[in-house]
Amino acid sequence: MTEKVSKKRKVEENINVEENQKRATDAGLWFEDGNIILIAQYTPFKVHRGLLSRKSEVFRDMFTLPPPESPNKCDLMDGIPIVHMSDNWEDLSIVLSVLYDGQAFFGFQQQIIHFQTIAALLRLGHKYGLTELEQEAIARLKRLFPTELDDFFDEYTGSKYDRDNRSLCCPDSKIHLKSSDAVEAINLARTYNIPSILPSAFYICSRLPINLLVKGVPTLGSRVSRNMLSRADLVRCLEGQIELSRRYVLRWETLHEAIGKGSCIDTKLCLSSKLEWAKEGHRAWQYQDAIGCCLLDSDWATSGRSQELLCDGCDGKRESLWEKFRRETWNDLSVIFDLQNNKARGT
Ligand SMILES: [Zn+2]
Repeated sequence: MTEKVSKKRKVEENINVEENQKRATDAGLWFEDGNIILIAQYTPFKVHRGLLSRKSEVFRDMFTLPPPESPNKCDLMDGIPIVHMSDNWEDLSIVLSVLYDGQAFFGFQQQIIHFQTIAALLRLGHKYGLTELEQEAIARLKRLFPTELDDFFDEYTGSKYDRDNRSLCCPDSKIHLKSSDAVEAINLARTYNIPSILPSAFYICSRLPINLLVKGVPTLGSRVSRNMLSRADLVRCLEGQIELSRRYVLRWETLHEAIGKGSCIDTKLCLSSKLEWAKEGHRAWQYQDAIGCCLLDSDWATSGRSQELLCDGCDGKRESLWEKFRRETWNDLSVIFDLQNNKARGT
């Protein structure tokens, strides 16, 4: 009975392997002269044992060690040995592509790639001892989620930011991402110990709809699960949302208080338009969100109206105070998201 079940499963697997072989062919990872077949989630890749062994000791050991007891490990396809992998087939496809066509991903030939590619390079680069790929992935993540506000990419700090979970492109790291990819970035930072990316990744996460944070971000391709924050990180994110909103309101009040005082050179104008100017701020809040407003550049609430409503002295004060506030917020992200127990930022 057990033998029958085993044979039936093997036949089904073979059918799946044939159906899925097209994926490898389409990805350019089915080499007629290949001498090892890696199968991940029924998707076979016919590649070269020597090349993979040269890049990774883990692969080398995998190909040279005697196969375990499991009969599945001893299979052949067209006389070529098969190795069953536990990885996601898309991740494996990405890593194999980089191993064969790596020049497209490094150095001056860097091209813009998707966040999922970076995630795959980090996961499998770490797992298979592909140090160069792992380090490249970490370097790009650090540029994407920097420790300095001035390095944080414009889409998040410019006054035209759109809150929707749309695709963004960070030119410095040459990565396309969606805001919701920050959830996976936090999980990668936790798993692979990259604490410096956490504050800005949490900031991006905190702007996601709560529904998405709680239910998780649907994953692409063959992954059926959702990317979710751990329970502790979800609490950090939600509490950070509340704290950022609170700080925004407090800072707006401070700005409002400062108008018409000190360096004001036209008290009559400024005091009479104080209310109107405050409405501008609330209008901006309606179009953005309090959390997003916390880091927006100092042009965010002006649109020409500030200079019209305030004297030069008050307008200058508004700008310098706002700049001070946004930098304080950035520097406090570790506190706001309760990340103090991680190592110092920049590590
Ligand atoms: Zn004034």
